[in-house]
Amino acid sequence: MDKQALRDISYGLYLVTSVSGEKVNGQIANTVFQVCSETPKIAISINKDNLTHEYIKKSGVVAISVLEQDTPMTFIGNFGFKSGKDIDKFSQVKYEKGETGAPIVSENTLSYIEGKVVDSADVGTHTLFVVDVVDAKVLKEGVPMTYDYYHAVKKGKSPKNAPTYINEKEAEKAPEKPVKEEMKMERYVCTVCGYVYDPAEGDSEGGIPAGTAFENLPDDWTCPVCGAAKDEFEPE
Ligand code: FE
Repeated sequence: MDKQALRDISYGLYLVTSVSGEKVNGQIANTVFQVCSETPKIAISINKDNLTHEYIKKSGVVAISVLEQDTPMTFIGNFGFKSGKDIDKFSQVKYEKGETGAPIVSENTLSYIEGKVVDSADVGTHTLFVVDVVDAKVLKEGVPMTYDYYHAVKKGKSPKNAPTYINEKEAEKAPEKPVKEEMKMERYVCTVCGYVYDPAEGDSEGGIPAGTAFENLPDDWTCPVCGAAKDEFEPE
């Protein structure tokens, strides 16, 4: 089997939220798709280890934000690379409770969809939830973030709990880019999310120009993907 073929499947990038009593949580997911148009239904694949999974199981309700293309990596990092078991992901994020009681986030959101779980399938590490759409609304015009854009342009990584996670050690290595002599500064990897700081590229979102060595980054610089501090990085 050539697992590379699976990488050619296209996805979007979504914020999936749910509720448990007074508590709310959410996570980033790429596997959200419509499965029926008459009485609209969507399906979502969620890792069983995630707190959002626990909340969806308990409450049976879910809300989905379709994220816009220029969603900042810090927003994605907060929901995608941190656990609601450790932090309150909503402490800096505005939301309103929808018709189902699920938290609806409008930040960086083109449209939202909320609904009730009507069926589920155990697919191993993940549960596939089938959701009856209760309400949906377009908040603004724009271009939705695709999973390909997230990887190729935003340089985003897939966390281990993603259904499409690829163990890079198992995956065939892409041919190494030739390293320019004058750019032989060391690359550093974020131990939290796997983001690689490449001095040759800098960090445009954080205002760091290309050619800035890791050692010369400001002390308050943080990982553009997950928000981890500089001391969470190690040489690649
Ligand atoms: Fe990180």
